[in-house]
Amino acid sequence: MEHKELKMLKAPFDQLVEKIKKNSGLEKEEVLRRIEAKKAKLSGLISNEGAAQIVAAELGISFEKQKMKIQDLMIGMKKVSIIGKIIDDPSIKKFKKQEREGELCSFSIADETSNIRIVLWDTKHIEMIKNGTLKKDAVIDIKNADVRGTTNREVHLNSFSELAQSTETIESTVLTKDTPIIRKISEIKNNERANIRANVLQFFNISFFYVCPECGMKVTLEGDKATCVRHGSVLPKKRAILNVLVDDGSENLRATAFNEAIFKLLEIKEDMSKLEDPSFMLEKKQEIVGSEFLFMGKTRKNVLFNRDEFIINDCERVDPDMVIKQYT
Ligand SMILES: [Zn+2]
Repeated sequence: MEHKELKMLKAPFDQLVEKIKKNSGLEKEEVLRRIEAKKAKLSGLISNEGAAQIVAAELGISFEKQKMKIQDLMIGMKKVSIIGKIIDDPSIKKFKKQEREGELCSFSIADETSNIRIVLWDTKHIEMIKNGTLKKDAVIDIKNADVRGTTNREVHLNSFSELAQSTETIESTVLTKDTPIIRKISEIKNNERANIRANVLQFFNISFFYVCPECGMKVTLEGDKATCVRHGSVLPKKRAILNVLVDDGSENLRATAFNEAIFKLLEIKEDMSKLEDPSFMLEKKQEIVGSEFLFMGKTRKNVLFNRDEFIINDCERVDPDMVIKQYT
């Protein structure tokens, strides 16, 4: 017990290293080496404490008592504890999924490092929102929650999670602007979701293909007849595909956008006829080549050409002022 009190006086990072060492049986040097490797892999976008948390999670060590900063939360982490200020009005939605039916509540919280979406599934947690115990501007304590998501991180609370009004106050300014974790192209692996910030070097010609309206699979066309292997004769849907070559200074990568993502890239409303207009597309090409974008998507191997590709799910032009604010 005396040891425990002594440890509390140490800095959080040393505490984390100690706990990893004790629970994993690894030497301290090895624990530090792994933390350094993790930091390098994440391009230094994570703090020492954050990298230690990930190393711990990978070793199956949980940190139920350890409070984390929002910027250090990574998808896949379990049983995390955080404090944050509610920065928007919580919304409650009904959901129905096969035999399950109920409500879920979501809102965002922020601390001085970042902000994140919170999702409540438990009725007793949702009740705290409904009866006004917790509302916008309240500082809340979350314990034992999981970080889920695909491109965007979300903290999900289940019935084992704890939610309470915090006794702490957050005096410093909270970061309400979204700060996605950006990865270097050279460091993303195959079949991995990632956000990259890169310049468009090349913009290839757009092409079109037809898919089954039922399953989205490519159809075979014969004259004006379209056939899906699964659904037979169908009225096909036209889809567009656009490739761009992007570079973030670490490496370049071929990125592919389909319909919705193309409209996002071109910054226009969904209108297929625009994509078929060569002079409009040429104008857009001149506008986009050389511009920097934030791309959200997933890498995959193109076996046909034996190269890595990035499938763009969403993208937005990088506002230079935003970058200056965020990185200086
Ligand atoms: Zn089909």
